[in-house]
Amino acid sequence: MDEASCDRCGAELPTEPGRRLAWSHHVQAGRPGWTCPACTREHSRSIEARLDGQWW
Ligand SMILES: [Zn+2]
Repeated sequence: MDEASCDRCGAELPTEPGRRLAWSHHVQAGRPGWTCPACTREHSRSIEARLDGQWW
């Protein structure tokens, strides 16, 4: 079961465990998924942007 790839851009998950540390693992609808470092960064940026809005 080593066909994991980024949910967002489709980049292949590195096979070296050390490089996988930069990837974020999540479970969506009961299925495990991965997000690559670049997409994780963009995703967290959009979360931060949302927090900077009119939420407070
Ligand atoms: Zn990606």
